[in-house]
Amino acid sequence: MARERVGQSVKDHMDYAYDMDIAVKPTVTVPVLGEPYGYYTGSGNILFSTGWGIIRSVLGDILTRFHARRGYKVVETPILARTTLYKVSGHLDYYRDNMYIFNVKSEASEEGVEEFALKPMNCPYHILILMNLLEKYRGKVKFPFKIFELGKVHRYELSGTLRGLLRVRGFTQDDAHIFTPKEGAVNSIVEVFRELRDLYEKLFHIKVRSSTIRLRLSFSEPSEVGREYMGTLEQWREAEETIAKAAETIKREFGIEYFIGRGEAAFYGPKIDVVALVAGEEREWQIGTMQFDFNLPKRFGLEGMVRDIYGPDFEIYMIHRALLGSLERFLGVYLEMFRGRLPFVLAPLQAALLPIKTGTPRDDDILALTRHIASHLDSLGIRYSVVETTRTGIGGTIRRLETTFKPPLTVVIGSEEVEKGFVSVRLYDYEAMKPRSLRVPTPDGDLSGLESIIDTLEKPVEDLVGYKPRLPVELDYIS
Ligand SMILES: [Zn+2]
Repeated sequence: MARERVGQSVKDHMDYAYDMDIAVKPTVTVPVLGEPYGYYTGSGNILFSTGWGIIRSVLGDILTRFHARRGYKVVETPILARTTLYKVSGHLDYYRDNMYIFNVKSEASEEGVEEFALKPMNCPYHILILMNLLEKYRGKVKFPFKIFELGKVHRYELSGTLRGLLRVRGFTQDDAHIFTPKEGAVNSIVEVFRELRDLYEKLFHIKVRSSTIRLRLSFSEPSEVGREYMGTLEQWREAEETIAKAAETIKREFGIEYFIGRGEAAFYGPKIDVVALVAGEEREWQIGTMQFDFNLPKRFGLEGMVRDIYGPDFEIYMIHRALLGSLERFLGVYLEMFRGRLPFVLAPLQAALLPIKTGTPRDDDILALTRHIASHLDSLGIRYSVVETTRTGIGGTIRRLETTFKPPLTVVIGSEEVEKGFVSVRLYDYEAMKPRSLRVPTPDGDLSGLESIIDTLEKPVEDLVGYKPRLPVELDYIS
């Protein structure tokens, strides 16, 4: 398949995102004001548009339900905190350069100011929530304890490293923390990988195979333990062994290969990063991650608290994990992998209805059938747009839609269709990565054929979360 181009160059994810009203390109000039959008937002702070509103909302619901059904507790924590919280967690010592820290005038404090930080990670708040539940319900809190948040975090990344949606300064994580006794750690990691596979395959049509996905075991640089990496050599060795054991199990069970990345660990522990090979790109992009942490529970005193309640042998481990990682980056990688083609349930424009006007009385029937289909899509909650065209204009109309909004479903309604009782459908085939054409009968205006195509597109996701993810938003300015 030929790659799409803008002018002389191949389209990248920001081109796709801009064409679909997902994000505004920071280099485009704001009308009237005269400076580029990025001038007002700041670098790496993406101005998302109406397409993202749909994606974020539908995906957010899917992820929330997905996790709740798999035993995660769902929370939402503040976007900022006093820096005292990050003093306890260690972020101030190890992560300060990546944090947005600022003072706020405060008449309540002796110094007259209070220091705050935008949340760079959700973990400290999740620990506080668990500590409160443990105190209130003592031994009734069961382990592994899993807590999930679609958490918006901000991290100051160097300007030179910023790139479109792939590296930004403010992003949303599908973040969860699993608190498990030491002996359950390997199982928990393998379970997370299974969740990741289900989500990737059923929602995103990404085959979790060794040809597209690899695991990077991000380990410490032993000479830097105690400096760049928090903890002792013994703790790191033990944690890295657990990670390696989990990776071996994943390799056996799912056939996914792994490799070791020395010096790639987080400051609080080693991790397994899920990396995707983007077609046509040299480098691999990190998407999901599972990180092992023996530091945070200790720093918050959670370790001792758990021993008090559950007995002196209870050794608690904490796993940080994200299946998609940053939703923004995942979307960017996805747009490049699938050349702008989003899964049906997430596509801002799911269906385009193209009545072909003839300039004859036949047009009444054509428009009547179009209205009938439109009102049926309304009743289902499918996002669609009606784009009137002509026999000579249809090629151009389809091309325009295919290079901008890329609706997975295009329904053509012309005079032959009306006469013979069918509609011509162009349906994007995610397996073959190209559209295919089919005739769908509409006897006496019966739209069950069309509806069953939509059902087929939604079915895997419905299996995953137990409902049809639909969010009708009118995109009336597209036509
Ligand atoms: Zn975390």
